[in-house]
Amino acid sequence: MSRNAESTAFRSALEVVRGVEPRVADAIAAELADQRESLKLIASENYASPATLLAMGNWFSDKYAEGTVGRRFYAGCQNVDTVEALAAEHARELFGASHAYVQPHSGIDANLVAFWAILADRVESPALRKAQARQVNDLTEADWFALRRELGNQRMLGMSLDAGGHLTHGFRPNISGKMFDQRSYGTDPATGLIDYDRVAEAAREFKPLILVAGYSAYPRKVNFRIMREIADSVGATFMVDMAHFAGLVAGKVFTGDFDPVPHAHIVTTTTHKSLRGPRGGMVLCGPELADQVDRGCPMVLGGPLPHVMAAKAVALAEARRPDFAGYAQRIVDNAQALADGLLRRGATLVTGGTDNHLVLIDVSGYGLTGRQAEQALLDSGIVTNRNSVPQDPNGAWYTSGIRIGTPALTTRGLGAAEMDATAELIHTVLSQTTPGTGPDGAPSKAKYVLDPAVAESVGKQAADLLTPFPLYPAVDLG
Ligand code: PLP
Repeated sequence: MSRNAESTAFRSALEVVRGVEPRVADAIAAELADQRESLKLIASENYASPATLLAMGNWFSDKYAEGTVGRRFYAGCQNVDTVEALAAEHARELFGASHAYVQPHSGIDANLVAFWAILADRVESPALRKAQARQVNDLTEADWFALRRELGNQRMLGMSLDAGGHLTHGFRPNISGKMFDQRSYGTDPATGLIDYDRVAEAAREFKPLILVAGYSAYPRKVNFRIMREIADSVGATFMVDMAHFAGLVAGKVFTGDFDPVPHAHIVTTTTHKSLRGPRGGMVLCGPELADQVDRGCPMVLGGPLPHVMAAKAVALAEARRPDFAGYAQRIVDNAQALADGLLRRGATLVTGGTDNHLVLIDVSGYGLTGRQAEQALLDSGIVTNRNSVPQDPNGAWYTSGIRIGTPALTTRGLGAAEMDATAELIHTVLSQTTPGTGPDGAPSKAKYVLDPAVAESVGKQAADLLTPFPLYPAVDLG
C-alpha cells in the first residue's frame, strides 16, 4: 500500500464515521495522537500494521459463521471460509503446528478452548463419551449429573501469579480458578528463576491433569523440553500459553527447547502482543486434540469474528516475511539494552535482567510501590504498568513492580541508544519520586510526590526521543 493510500483510507474512514457520530471519530483520532506522543512500554501492547487494521473494518463483521471451514451452521460463508483457512494456514506454517484454530476472540477465550479440549480428551466419563458421540438423547439426568461432577475439580498446575503466571492459569478471579483444583509453582527466591526440580516435585505430589507453562511477567526463557518431560512423568497434558512471547517464537528467537510448539500437547496465544496482529487468540495443537479444539464455538465461544480472522491472516502473513525475524530479535536486543541501562543506574530487576521482551523492575529499591511508580512515570509521559514481583509484600493492587516491554517501541524503530536514554528517564523519575501521605498524614501506598518540573522535563525528553520515529508515518489525518 502506498503512503498516500494509507492516508486516504484512514481519512475517508473517519470522515464516514464523523458523518454519524463525530465524537467517535474524534476519539479515534485522539487515540492516534495519544499513541504517537507516548513512550509506550506496556509489554503486552504493540502497533498493528495499517493492512491489519484495515482488514478489520469491513463487511465480514456482519457475518455469522458458527462451525469450521466447510462445516458451517449458516449459509453463505464461502468468503469467511477463505479468510479462516488462510489464517490457519499461515499459523500452521509460521509455527510448524499441524493444526491451528484461529477463532478465539481473545487469549482468555483461547485458554478456555484448550481447557475444554483437554477435559474432553482426558476425563474418563462414560456420560461425556455418549455426549461426544452425539447420543445426547440416551443420557439420563443421572448421567448429566455424573458428567458435571467428573468434569469439575480436575487438577491444574500452573505458574503462580506473583512469579509471573496469568489469571487464566487457575486463579480465583478467572473461571479456571473455580473449575480446577489448582496448585502453582513459583520461582527460586534467590535467583527469581523457575526451578525445574521444584516443578517436578510439585507435579509428583499433586499429579495434575494439566501442566501449564507460560507467563505475563517472567523476564526469562522457559525450557519447554524439560517441562514436557515433567508433564510426561506424571501423565499430565502439557499446555503452553505463549500469549506474551508468540512473536519471539514466530521470529525464531525462541527455538529448540524454548520453542513451545514441538514440546507442548497444546499451545494457546494472543495475536496482538509481540505477534503484532489484531486483538484476538489462537490455539495450536496436534491431531489428537484437533477435533475437540474445533468445537470451541459454540462450546465456549460466541460466533467467530470473521473480520478479525481476516486481520489475523494479514498479520500472520506479515510475520512469515523474512523481516519479522529481524524485528523479533530487535525486541530482545532492546529489552536487554533497557535492562542493562537500568542496572547500570542502580535499579533492581527481577532475575537480574531479561532474555525476552520484558523487564520487571522491583521499585521497592526506590522506596516506592508499583502504583506510585506507575503514576509518577505516567505523569512524565512514560506508559508502563505496575505488576507484582515474586513474594510481593504489597499484593496485586499496589504491587512492588513495574513491568516494561519493548515490542511497541521496537515497531516504531527505536534501538539500543534510545533504550539507554529511556532507562535514564525511568531512573530519573523513580529516583526523584518519594512516597506521599494520606489525608490523615499516614504513609500511603498510592500517593507520591514528584516535582512537576521533573515530570515536565522528562516528558519533553521522552517526546524528543520519539520525534525521529513517527508512528504510522504515512497516516496524515489532516
Ligand atoms: N494469557 C496470557 C499469558 C496473557 O498475558 C494474557 C493477557 O494479558 C492473556 C492470556 C489474556 O489475553 P486477552 O486479554 O486477549 O484475553
